[in-house]
Amino acid sequence: MKILKVDHIGIAVNNIEQAKALYTDILGIPHAGSETVAEQKVTTAFFPVGEAEVELLESTAPDGPIAKFIESKGQGIQHIAFRVENIEQALEELKAKGVRLIDEKPRRGAGGAKIAFLHPKSTFGVLVELSER
Ligand code: ZN
Repeated sequence: MKILKVDHIGIAVNNIEQAKALYTDILGIPHAGSETVAEQKVTTAFFPVGEAEVELLESTAPDGPIAKFIESKGQGIQHIAFRVENIEQALEELKAKGVRLIDEKPRRGAGGAKIAFLHPKSTFGVLVELSER
């Protein structure tokens, strides 16, 4: 398995429109686009910084994973995403090495990427996303 780079850092916020102003107006980072991923009950907005991106995440439903995250931990960094060359192969290898997976099979993420999450119990408390695009 090959990890190519940090793809993005996912940040959970209550209100993307409000948070967006920090990244664009104050930090001067361009807004590369927004997308709602219905099956994950989330709206995302991307802000490219060099080789990586900041991904803002706002829940579209009170029972969505981002709403639940904010409820228990407050707004802030929710996950870190690594870009991999081949996500199916990476998941197989990690499973064989005893890493607990949230997603055994990749699902569709923002921007048409194939994504899968590793369980924070296996990664020292960090929700790790693998992404292939
Ligand atoms: Zn992400």
